[in-house]
Amino acid sequence: MGISKTFLPGQRIAVMLPLPLPGPYDYLVPEGLAVEAGAFVRVPLGRRDEVGVVWGPGTDTVAPAKLREVRGRLPAPPLPEISRRFVEWVGDYCLAPTGAVLKMAMSVTAALEPPRPMVAYRAAAVQDASARLTPARRRVLELVTGTPPLPAADLSREAGVSPSVIRGMADAGLLEAVATCRSPAPPEPDWRRPGPSLSRAQHEAAQDLAAKVVDGFSVTLLEGVTGSGKTEVYFEAIAAALQKGRQVLVLLPEIALSAQWLERFARRFGAPPAEWHSDLSAGQRRDTWRAVAEGAARVVVGARSALFLPYPDLGLIVVDEEHDSSFKQEDGTIYHARDMAVVRGRLGEHPVVLASATPSLETQANVQAGRYRRLHLPDRHAGAAMPGVAAVDMRRNGPPRRSWLSPPLLAALEETLAAGEQAMLFLNRRGYAPLTLCRGCGMRLQCPNCTAWLVEHRLLGRLQCHHCGHQARLPSLCPSCGAADSFAACGPGVERLYEEVAARFPDARCAIMASDTVASPAAAAELVRRMEARELDLLVGTQIVAKGHHFPLLTLVGVIDADLGLAGGDLRAAERTYQLLAQVAGRAGRSEHPGRVLLQTYQPDHPVMQALVSGDAERFYAEEAAGRRAAGMPPFGKLAALIVSGADAARVDAVARRLARSAPRLPGVTVLGPAPAPLAMLRGRHRVRLLLRAERRVNVQATLRGWLSTAEIPGGVRLQVDVDPYGFL
Ligand code: ADP
Ligand code: ZN
Repeated sequence: MGISKTFLPGQRIAVMLPLPLPGPYDYLVPEGLAVEAGAFVRVPLGRRDEVGVVWGPGTDTVAPAKLREVRGRLPAPPLPEISRRFVEWVGDYCLAPTGAVLKMAMSVTAALEPPRPMVAYRAAAVQDASARLTPARRRVLELVTGTPPLPAADLSREAGVSPSVIRGMADAGLLEAVATCRSPAPPEPDWRRPGPSLSRAQHEAAQDLAAKVVDGFSVTLLEGVTGSGKTEVYFEAIAAALQKGRQVLVLLPEIALSAQWLERFARRFGAPPAEWHSDLSAGQRRDTWRAVAEGAARVVVGARSALFLPYPDLGLIVVDEEHDSSFKQEDGTIYHARDMAVVRGRLGEHPVVLASATPSLETQANVQAGRYRRLHLPDRHAGAAMPGVAAVDMRRNGPPRRSWLSPPLLAALEETLAAGEQAMLFLNRRGYAPLTLCRGCGMRLQCPNCTAWLVEHRLLGRLQCHHCGHQARLPSLCPSCGAADSFAACGPGVERLYEEVAARFPDARCAIMASDTVASPAAAAELVRRMEARELDLLVGTQIVAKGHHFPLLTLVGVIDADLGLAGGDLRAAERTYQLLAQVAGRAGRSEHPGRVLLQTYQPDHPVMQALVSGDAERFYAEEAAGRRAAGMPPFGKLAALIVSGADAARVDAVARRLARSAPRLPGVTVLGPAPAPLAMLRGRHRVRLLLRAERRVNVQATLRGWLSTAEIPGGVRLQVDVDPYGFL
């Protein structure tokens, strides 16, 4: 990065505010202040003050007399140039106002303010020999000897003494209080610690990745079956980046559920990484943001928003489970964290590693086109075999009514439990039953705000809408026909499956794992620990059980409804179902005990089931790719969705029709719609969709900008743009 320009008093500067404005606003640098590009400054806006970022020299034409002055500069490191360019790039690509993207990069305003002073303690220079030294006091004294002053809270936690002991020692003249503004620096992961000895294939892949670390921008797909050691391999790339003194970002889906990953990291590097996700407290967010900005946080592991932290010296990004659809942010600024990670790598001129057992078609197409490199780990670690996968044809071998376990799956469960091994049952549906209807009149309980059924959650004792969170009690009388006690639960959710399992296997120790039954990351970690420690025999869960866990004794995986993800049939339904089921299946037989997987399906001939049973992923992907290519769909064509929504259906329709009339008529571009969205009503808003499909050569952003520049969106109607859509609801 070049020396950034300093702006002096009297100069006009452009300040980007974290608001959805069309661009930066100009201000004057006042007497006595000098600011450089990237500095966080407080500026007046209307009658308020806002904090923004110095974006560059002023450009607009406001008369100098009308220009307002910057009020002051905040005591935080400036937002690095690469971060600023990244914010602009994301805004341009996603058609979002730059300020809205900037907001994600300065989400923790408290981190910009002067740190609150706090009291820290060190050993008093002159120790009063007459003071009483209890064992607790001795422990505290040992801790403060030879280190910088420690905050009282840290001291009492690490010494295992109450805060009153610390205060007592200060009163007795054993400790000396000093005011400090800093939280202690996070512990540094140590790249010098030895990793496990790698297999030959692992070693070669690790060497290759490590060599890329100082080699500028590159994207490498690290592909390997579940359990092949991809994590161990990219840990070596992390070690190499740390050795070069660079920061590292690892993006994981569901970081809050990744206790095993965090433990592995801490074992490998002797210190935990900095975490970034929505479960952090305000204080943790402030400290972490600041530690990243100051370069003290060396490795960050986070959810997609961690991309927008102000790294001064990022040298490597790893996106684990790169195919996972949770990397797509669906509200606010809509972006795909995997794709934006690649952009961040290009701007920062450092490598990006995409790891997956089942890479997305997008990434595979990029490998085939030579844009990304590929490293392959063909085998599971330590000779563990891939699990045998078989389909249970539910048309012939299905369970009796109101039961969800087919005879072959029941038999397999019995065998597994009798052998003292563990089993996992997977059903990607939260709650007790997806649909509740009146036996008298057939009325279905619907969300009042959404085109969706209410899902019964028996453990919570209520009905819930999975789209807007609306909650209700099960009514005692049918609101439509007035019948009493007439409601029937239709179909299974994990809670209902659990009920059946508990009744069939009363001696088995069972647990349920779904995002709403597991209250916190700690509770999830506890379930994982119990499974590892063999305190559980059977785990019933939704897709959160599929995420990366390693349970050596788990030998049977049963998929209750393998067809579930295929319904609805969006563009990626088959691909996503394959990826999810391959990941679930990959939990079985990861150690010396061989594993098996049973897929309950009504479509055993479906290409997804065939691919899982035969293990022939390549054929499946090739056919999937051929279909997409023929249809001009991603990754061989481009898509962008427009979603028009509002409380007033007529207004929404009018806007959508106007948009359709003014749609671009360009070669290689087709606009489909308007059509009511499958979720035609969401949170009380009517929704209509248009879809733009374009050939790869088309500049979709320019096309959209041209189209939308003429759009008139009246109050109460909202237009959302989703470039590269993944969700089609
Ligand atoms: P993947 O990420 O490809 O699913 P992991 O990296 O999680 O695979 O490895 C699967 C399991 O095998 C983990 O418990 C890991 O610690 C272990 N493992 C992988 N490679 C090695 C190795 N070279 N030495 C020791 N253990 C290994
Ligand atoms: Zn709802």
